[in-house]
Amino acid sequence: MILEKYSLGTGDRFAHQAKAQLAACVCAAKQGVVIVPVWNKSNREHKIVGSEPGGTRAAADAAVRELAWPHSYYVDADHINLDTVERFLEPCDFFTIDVADAIGRPPAVGVAEEFLRRHPELIGRIEIAGIAQALDMSREKALNGAGKYLAAVSEAGCIYREILSRKGPGRFVAEVSMDETDLPQTPAELLLILAAVADEGIPIQTIAPKFTGRFNKGVDYVGDVEFFEKEFAADLAVIAHAVARYGLPRNLKLSVHSGSDKFSIYAAMRRALQQVGAGVHVKTAGTTWLEELIGLAEAGHDGLALAKDIYESAHAHRDELCAPYAAVIDIDPAKLPAPETVRNWTSEQYIGAVRHDRRNPLFNLNVRQLLHVGYKIAAGMGDRYTGLLRECEESISRNVTLNLYERHIKPLFLSKAN
Ligand SMILES: [Zn+2]
Repeated sequence: MILEKYSLGTGDRFAHQAKAQLAACVCAAKQGVVIVPVWNKSNREHKIVGSEPGGTRAAADAAVRELAWPHSYYVDADHINLDTVERFLEPCDFFTIDVADAIGRPPAVGVAEEFLRRHPELIGRIEIAGIAQALDMSREKALNGAGKYLAAVSEAGCIYREILSRKGPGRFVAEVSMDETDLPQTPAELLLILAAVADEGIPIQTIAPKFTGRFNKGVDYVGDVEFFEKEFAADLAVIAHAVARYGLPRNLKLSVHSGSDKFSIYAAMRRALQQVGAGVHVKTAGTTWLEELIGLAEAGHDGLALAKDIYESAHAHRDELCAPYAAVIDIDPAKLPAPETVRNWTSEQYIGAVRHDRRNPLFNLNVRQLLHVGYKIAAGMGDRYTGLLRECEESISRNVTLNLYERHIKPLFLSKAN
C-alpha cells in the first residue's frame, strides 16, 4: 500500500460529509491533479462525539461508491498510541502514530551513545543537497537530540509492530507524528529522527514534525512566513537525503497537521514542493464541521436557529470545550459576542462571523475557534442536529466542497509556482 504523491486529510466529525469532501477531490482530478482523500478522525474526536472508527470507514466507502471515485482512499487512525489503537485496527488502513508525549523521555543508559556510534555521519557538518548551508551538528547537539527523540522513536516502533502483527505487511500506511508538542523540530533534528526511524525498521510514508509558528485549529498560520518557507524547504531536502541514505520508503513525505486555513503559507509550501517535485500530505483539521454550521445558517429558519443555539451553549461551556485543545487555539474571550447579540443575527451575520474570509469585516476568529471546538454541543443534540444536517444538505454540502476545493486544494495544488 503506497500512499500517492498528494493526499488530503479530511475530518468529518459527524460522518455526514464524506461525499461532499470527496467531490472536492473529484474537481481536482478533473483539472488533472490526483489528490487522494484520507478520512482522519482522532480518538479524541470519537470520544467527544461518541462515535466509532467503523462509522468513518462506512461513510468513506459509501462516498467512494456513490461518486465512483477511481483512485485510492484511506481511513486514518489519527493520533493513536498503544492504549487507543485497538478499535482502529479493523476499519483503518492509515495509522498516525503519535509519540509526541514521549519526546524528552530519556532513553536507557548508553542508548544515545550507541546510536551515535552507529551514526558518525550525524556529527559535524552535514552536507544536504538542496540546502545552501551545511547542517551543523556538534557532538553535543547530536547527543542532546538523541536523548530527546530516541525514546519516542522506539515507542513508535512498538506501536508500529503491534499494528503490523495485527494487520499484516503491506496492508496499511504508517505515519509518525511529533507535532503536538511545545518546541518545533529543526531540520537537523528531523534528520536524526529519520535515521532512528530507519534503525527501528518503521517503513514510514509520512512524517509530521512540528514546524515553527502557530498552527492553530481552523485559523491562519501565525509566525514568520519567510522563515517557515526556508524550514519547510530544508525539511523536504532532509527527507530526500534520508530516503537515499537510510533506505526509507521512496514516497516518504511531509505531513502537515492542522493544515486547514493556513492561507498565508500555502504559496510558500507550493513553491517549495514544486521546486523539488515533492509530494505532501495536508491534514485539514475538522473544519468541515464549521461548514456544516455555515450551511445551516445559510438555510435559515430551523437551521439558523440551531446554529445560534450551538453558539449559545458553546459560549456557556467554553472552558470545558477549550481544555482539550488548549495548545492549538487562541481565543480572546473579550471578543466573543454575547449569546443575546448572536440571537438577533441574520444568516449573513452568522456566516460572516464564521466563514474564513478575513476581508469580510464581519469575520470573527474568536467565534470561529470557539465553534471549532464546540462540536460536543452538537453531538449532545443527537437527532436534532443530524436531522437538520440531512434537511439542509444542499447548502451544507455546497459549502463543504467549496471550502476544500477553492480555499485549500486550489492554492495548494493547482496554482502554478511563482
Ligand atoms: Zn496532529
